[in-house]
Amino acid sequence: MSILPSVREKVEVTPFIDTHEHLIEEKQRLAGPPPNEWLFPCDDWAYLFMHYTRNDLNAAGMSLKEQERFYSMAVDPEDKWPVFAPYWPRIQHTGYGQAVTYSIRRLYGEESIGPHNVARLTEKMRKRVRKGYYREILQDVCGIESCQVNSLEPPTDKRWRGSQVFCVSEYPTLLHQDLSTVAMSTELNVPQLAAESGLPARSLDDWYRVIDWSFERYGPRAVATKNQSAYARRLDYENVPKEVAAPLFARYAEGKDSLGEGGMKALQDHLWRYGVRRATEMKLPVKLHTGYYAGTNYMPLARVGQNLNDLCPILLDFPETRFVLMHITYPYQDQLIALAKHYTNVYVDMCWAWIINPAASVRFLKEYLMAAPSSKIFTFGGDYITVETVYGHSQIARRGIAQALSELVEEGWLAEKEALALVEPLMCGNAREVFRIEEKQQILEAVH
Ligand SMILES: [Zn+2]
Repeated sequence: MSILPSVREKVEVTPFIDTHEHLIEEKQRLAGPPPNEWLFPCDDWAYLFMHYTRNDLNAAGMSLKEQERFYSMAVDPEDKWPVFAPYWPRIQHTGYGQAVTYSIRRLYGEESIGPHNVARLTEKMRKRVRKGYYREILQDVCGIESCQVNSLEPPTDKRWRGSQVFCVSEYPTLLHQDLSTVAMSTELNVPQLAAESGLPARSLDDWYRVIDWSFERYGPRAVATKNQSAYARRLDYENVPKEVAAPLFARYAEGKDSLGEGGMKALQDHLWRYGVRRATEMKLPVKLHTGYYAGTNYMPLARVGQNLNDLCPILLDFPETRFVLMHITYPYQDQLIALAKHYTNVYVDMCWAWIINPAASVRFLKEYLMAAPSSKIFTFGGDYITVETVYGHSQIARRGIAQALSELVEEGWLAEKEALALVEPLMCGNAREVFRIEEKQQILEAVH
C-alpha cells in the first residue's frame, strides 16, 4: 500500500472544518489549573496524556491511585515519570497514544518522551501557553479553519462557561459552539436553567418558554444542537403526548417525589422531541453522540448496539431535521453506513473515530464512499479538551483520509481525478454547507 503523492499533497493543503471539540476556553489555560477541576488538573507534561490517553493508561493497568499522582499539581513533573513508565510502552501504538506523540514532535520538537526530557517538555509547554496560542495551534499548525465546540466547562460556575446550554467564547468565529440540549431535556436541570433564563418553571408550558428562550438567545449563534444522553440511556425517544408529560413535569419541578425510571424517560422523550422541533425550525443540525463511550469500566455494549435501531422511528418522524450521528457509532459503523445510505436526513461525523481505531476509520471511509453519498460525511473532529493534542489527531485523520482515497484508486474503484475531487468536500465543504458556516460567521462577527 502506498499513498498517492497527488492525494497526499491535496489533503495536506486542504483545511479542515473541525466539527467536534470540547476545548476549554483559552483564558482558562492562561489562568492555570484551578483546584479540583477534572478538565484541567495540571499544567505539566502529564496534561498531554489526560482525557482519552488516560483511559488507555487505565485499561493497561494504571490504577486510580497512580492516576491521581500522575495528574496531580502537587507532584514534581520529573517524579511523574516512574508512575507513567510501566504503562506507556503498552499503549503508545494506539490512536490515543500516537496522537500525543505526533503533537509532542510537532509542537515541541521532541522526538519521543522519556525521563530525560519531561522537565524540558513541561517548560516548553508552559512557554507556549500565551494569548492567541489557540489560533496559532488550530489554524497555523493544524490547518483548521474553525472548530465546533461542545463545551464541558462547569455550567454553573461563572468563571467558566456560566451557562447551562451555551458557551460564549472569547473567540466566537474560531471556536463555534453547539447549543446543548442536555439541561433542557435529558438531564433536566430545572432550577439552574430557570434561574439563567429568569423565567418561572412550574408547569410544562413554563418549561417550553424556558426552552424557547434558550433557542432564541443562543440559537442564531450556535452551529448545531448537541446531546450526549446515549451515555445514560437508550435513544428510543418516544412520541409522548403533552397530556402525559405535563403532570410529570409538574411533579418533577416540585422536586418532592421521584418520577421513577418510566416517568423520567417519558418526560425526557417529550422534551427531547420538543428540542428537535425547535432546532429544525432554526435550521440547526441535531448532533447526537452514538457508539463508543469515553472512560473505562462502565459501557453496556448491548445498549450501544441499539443506538441506530432506536433512532429509526425518529428519523421518520422528523424528515426535515438533519441528524448528525457522531463517532461513526463505533464499533457498529457498518450499521451507520446503511443508515446514511437509506435515510435522507442522516449525516455521518467521523469525529473522535480516527484515534479510537485508526485502521477501522480508514476502512470505514472507504466503505462509506462506495455506499453512501459523499455529501453527508464530515471527516474530522478532534474531540479534545486540550488544544495541543488536536494536532496529533488531525495528522492521523489526514493520513487516514489520504490512505483511504489512495487505496480506492489503487484498487481500481476510483480514478485519481475523482479521488482528488472528494478531498475538499470531505475535509471542509460538506461541513461548510450543512452547518451554514458563512451565515454563522456573519452573525458572529456582527454580535462580537
Ligand atoms: Zn465529544
